[in-house]
Amino acid sequence: MHSVKSTMMPVPLSLNRLMEHAGRLFPESEIVSRLPDKSLRRHRYADWYRRTRSLAAALKKLGLRKGDRVATLCWNHHAHLECYFGVPAAGGVMHTLNLRLSPDDLGWIAHDARDRFLVVDDILLPLYRQFAAHHRFERVIVFPFSGAQVPASAGDPHGGEPAIDDYEALLAHAPTDFEYADHHEDDPVAMCYTSGTTGKPKGVVYSHRSTVLHSLSCALPDYVALSSRDVVIPVTPMFHANSWGIPYAAVMLGSKLVFPGPHLHPEDLLDLMQQEPPTLTLGVPTIWLALIQTFEAHPGRWRLPTGMRSMVGGAAVPEALIRQFARQGIHLAQGWGMTETSPMGSLFFEKPELRGRLSDDEWFARKAMAGVPGPLVEVRIMGDEGACAWNGRDVGELQVRGPFITGSYHGEAPGADKFTADGWLRTGDVAAIDANGYVRIADRTKDLIKSGGEWISSVDLENAIMAHPAVAEAAVIAIAHPKWTERPLACVVTKPGAAVSAAELRAFLAPKFARWQLPDAFEFIDAVPRTSTGKFWKSRLRERFAAWRWPDAPAASEPGSKD
Ligand code: ADP
Repeated sequence: MHSVKSTMMPVPLSLNRLMEHAGRLFPESEIVSRLPDKSLRRHRYADWYRRTRSLAAALKKLGLRKGDRVATLCWNHHAHLECYFGVPAAGGVMHTLNLRLSPDDLGWIAHDARDRFLVVDDILLPLYRQFAAHHRFERVIVFPFSGAQVPASAGDPHGGEPAIDDYEALLAHAPTDFEYADHHEDDPVAMCYTSGTTGKPKGVVYSHRSTVLHSLSCALPDYVALSSRDVVIPVTPMFHANSWGIPYAAVMLGSKLVFPGPHLHPEDLLDLMQQEPPTLTLGVPTIWLALIQTFEAHPGRWRLPTGMRSMVGGAAVPEALIRQFARQGIHLAQGWGMTETSPMGSLFFEKPELRGRLSDDEWFARKAMAGVPGPLVEVRIMGDEGACAWNGRDVGELQVRGPFITGSYHGEAPGADKFTADGWLRTGDVAAIDANGYVRIADRTKDLIKSGGEWISSVDLENAIMAHPAVAEAAVIAIAHPKWTERPLACVVTKPGAAVSAAELRAFLAPKFARWQLPDAFEFIDAVPRTSTGKFWKSRLRERFAAWRWPDAPAASEPGSKD
């Protein structure tokens, strides 16, 4: 018997292929960037393709070797998109630095990644100078985002002073005979550090293969449903998990991209949406909470684009927010993911067996979940006694596996704290999956509140409190309790001009929870502290309330009695 071999060509998956495809097939598609002075700069994909090849040629001429890291310290704009493709085209690895981190963290991360070159926005040079001493880049390429002149300098290799180049001058004088660097599909293209919400930042390195598969997978109709007809405003920073991988997928399909630059205030985003109405936006819940509050506070000033859909994730999306947008005809689709998962792990869509069968309330409750895993993402829930059933009730750690999920961290052997012996990523998220395959994130392992031997989900409480009309935002943390181990303390921010008492909030929550799950105390605060990626920074809140003590009286009812 002759065995059968595949007759398919062994062509490697390559980001360069997507770049060529976009350059040839979508020359007229647009890329719009908002500049520091708020004016709009327009490019066509044909310009982007030419400039990206020039960038790659210039980097090679400057001596970039295969695998060298090129850091970016940039807002969302066309030049950043050129780095997304141009650095890998030259054989380099693009490393996005998160400009919201402290200078110490930035220096530490740039050093850990051994970044050789840096591309930086001129308006971010003051930030760069604050960590320049922590890590010596060989070259600093300044993008004249504000239009100011960049004084080029040869630097001083002996004194550790980097050479300074003007990004536009480099492109203008780049060699014209560019050829892609040889590569394998598993070669690295980009790296991101986790934002360190749960400890020291760790580097995740994406490959040509993982990036192409992620782009194909997330663009599918049941997921982001991206197409050449879309106008996308990626509000999620390009330095946060590569703006969820959407720039790669959008270029692959020739979608119009509108970059907000440094202008992320709600008024600015609403103005941009009037000028360049999007069909798709993406961002963390914080952005949309602020945006809808501003929109509703100024009736008639703006119009929200009809039919716009919005991908929201990175943190739990309150059901109240989804309803608020739905009243404006806007569909918020919640997704779950991590830097480690490229990042799209799951996204909401209505599965066939549910179509036309859900009441309004059931539909919104389901939209408040984290969606359905994508085709190449395997998920399981691990409890103390092994894998949990998909019944929507049993919670355990969410573990994932797939071709665009990291199997280790940069410079580290896969440790048992983050990876299981059988090769799954331990996400640190506590979740349940229901019989239809919808994932519900209950909490992060360390944010769960352990009360009298039972667990309370801080996320469920937060979402319920944020549904109160007087509440702008709320975060719930565990406070040690002499009798019950821990009890929930709710930190609440009220809307401007609104007021609500602790007793009123308790009464508002009472129908939705068992009595022992209700927060015993409410503290009214000015703002919930945020991490560099816009998430509730609960460890900061825990520090702030470290000295907080429960009154002598024990909690009102028996935790665990589920009355
Ligand atoms: P970091 O882990 O440093 O915060 P990431 O941006 O990679 O950086 O965050 C991933 C985490 O964000 C997930 O592990 C999860 O805890 C949280 N997250 C993402 N999407 C959701 C969601 N839809 N609901 C709840 N939590 C989410």
